[in-house]
Amino acid sequence: RPSRQVAEKRPQLQLSFEFFPPKTDAMEERFWESLGKLAPLSPRFVSVTYGAGGSTRERTLRMVSQIKAQSGVDAAAHLTCVGASRAEVDAVVEGYKAAGINRIVALRGDPPEGVGQPFVPHPEGYRNAAELVEGIRRIGDFDISVAAYPEKHPQSPSWEADIDNLKRKLDAGASRAITQMFFNNADYLRYVERARKAGVTAPIVPGIQPIHSFKQISGFAARCGASIPVWIAERFEGLEDDPETHALVAAAVAAEQVTELLDEGVTEFHFYTLNRSNLVLALARLLGRRPAVAV
Ligand code: FAD
Repeated sequence: RPSRQVAEKRPQLQLSFEFFPPKTDAMEERFWESLGKLAPLSPRFVSVTYGAGGSTRERTLRMVSQIKAQSGVDAAAHLTCVGASRAEVDAVVEGYKAAGINRIVALRGDPPEGVGQPFVPHPEGYRNAAELVEGIRRIGDFDISVAAYPEKHPQSPSWEADIDNLKRKLDAGASRAITQMFFNNADYLRYVERARKAGVTAPIVPGIQPIHSFKQISGFAARCGASIPVWIAERFEGLEDDPETHALVAAAVAAEQVTELLDEGVTEFHFYTLNRSNLVLALARLLGRRPAVAV
């Protein structure tokens, strides 16, 4: 099996890690501790999310600005169009530029009422992620990532519309797409096939969400329209009060997912870390990436 090949024979892997801006001092401590453990894996970048409606604007900027200085790793700032005029969003982009941040994950975002509600753009705002990518491009030479949905975005009327939208974002100047979490690799592989058939050539990087807590992740998944297959739910059933077995099952499920993707020829992975390092460290090892040793 290719995934068992020795590291030297594997194609060059690219890893990226997503964090969220911490809200409290204790959470911030965990953020830096996890980053300290994951940075030696030499990720392409570490990204920091942007809270609903720009609620974390300052914190996202502060964290991305400090990541490079503290860990030496490139940082990417997420940015959404929610509740802000073009001028306001452009000012945030200018702020990233001034802080030396040259990577942005460009998103439309969701209305504050939730993903299920229709998105109403700010009257003077960017209406979607494709327009945001164009706007960012006008300001500077950023490396831009956009979102992709292996199970179709909940608001896309059809697969065709969904892939057309992905194409628009890439044509506007994004370098890659990162997928929403998914738990059935067949959905991702089918999506990539659809996109390639439609002429998309940019990398579509799988977003891997390790199931640290089945209860929490199934809540996230439901809110963003990602489904959890019954066979995965069954593996976690009854483990609410058994954290040790839960952790072992979580590691096994995620290991199965990434090694299967590796066998399918996937060489780029984006991990949703939830500011934790353990499972991601283990998964990186399975993919053949060990921490770089300082010489
Ligand atoms: P878009 O690509 O603009 O579009 C989403 C849908 O809107 C399309 O599928 C289509 O149905 C419709 N649409 C878009 N343009 C048009 C058009 N011209 N005409 C008709 N319909 C159109 N959210 C946050 O708030 N903060 C984050 O930091 C964050 N990070 C994320 C990171 C990743 C990797 C992913 C996958 C998602 C992230 N999200 C984040 C969630 C994201 O904001 C939502 O999924 C949101 O619903 C869609 O954003 P988008 O950029 O995909 O939107």
